[in-house]
Amino acid sequence: MSFELLKALCSTPGVPGREERFREVVRTQVTPHAEEITTDSMGNLFALRRGKSKDSRKIMIAGHMDEISFVVKFINKDGFIYFQPLGGFDPRTLIAQRVKVYGTTTLDGVIAIKAAHFTTPEERGKVIPLNDLFIDLGMSGDEVKAIVNIGDCITMDRDLIKMGNFYTGKTLDDRVGVYVMLEAFRNFSQSNDDIYAVATVQEEIGLRGAKTASFGLQPDIGIALDITIAADTPGVDEKDYCVRMGEGVGIKILDSSAICHPGLVRFLKELAERKGIKYQMEVLSAGGTDAGGMQMSRGGIPVCTLSIPCRYTHSVVESVHRDDVQATIDLLTAFLEHSHEFQF
Ligand SMILES: [Zn+2]
Repeated sequence: MSFELLKALCSTPGVPGREERFREVVRTQVTPHAEEITTDSMGNLFALRRGKSKDSRKIMIAGHMDEISFVVKFINKDGFIYFQPLGGFDPRTLIAQRVKVYGTTTLDGVIAIKAAHFTTPEERGKVIPLNDLFIDLGMSGDEVKAIVNIGDCITMDRDLIKMGNFYTGKTLDDRVGVYVMLEAFRNFSQSNDDIYAVATVQEEIGLRGAKTASFGLQPDIGIALDITIAADTPGVDEKDYCVRMGEGVGIKILDSSAICHPGLVRFLKELAERKGIKYQMEVLSAGGTDAGGMQMSRGGIPVCTLSIPCRYTHSVVESVHRDDVQATIDLLTAFLEHSHEFQF
């Protein structure tokens, strides 16, 4: 585990459709290990390690580079910025948070909050709609407009830290998935199959990058790496936990984007047992991953998602358990070394 790498991934911006800065970090990481690196017109990055078998298949592993974030929609005369959200934000989590605004220079900002002294009791109990939230950059209208333009990117601002057995911060969705992919891609000893590590774009707005990436690549098998919801906290019924923190990698059975290939699910479960890797089976009632985008490509592709359990998803305090991250790396690495044993 490299906490420093995971932290660097979390602090590099990747607004949907504007993943270029993050892609360069991924490129730097895969360059020493890949035999070939390509990108497509959407911005997906493909890193290949060739298999040793003559009749090798193509395995696509995918982690998404984009994060839920915003673009500048309007700047008013006093320099307050209104924004367009990209991805599923919960407005309750945004008030009084710091952001980064990527103009011609990078600026610090805050999502403003009305002073408590001036709010009525009704206002205090109400969630402010996303459309009414605005960002203060501490500058005049003219100063802001000299640096920031309509369409510029905005991300939340929160450093990753260690907290007990957890890592917590912003954008673990899907920086931790990309991290798992990078570690496994670098670690696996050898495969019979051609392994393509694909850093995808625009997942948070409808699995768009995974769709074009898998259509172009035509993989034989697809594995997405992403977080899933660990709802194992007070106030939630045990039957609705989905997965638990610290109980191992999630092997997804289904979510609202894909019903995973049952043979592939069984293979991954048996592989985890064989290798002594802690795992849990996952049925997620809402949400999706790049597996959904890959599966529906061309004539259909067998897919599964390996999930990292995550509490407080889509907030700046997303949290994962370090043992679950390691278990996910271990199972993905084992899969890359044993993929030829899976027949469908
Ligand atoms: Zn995700």
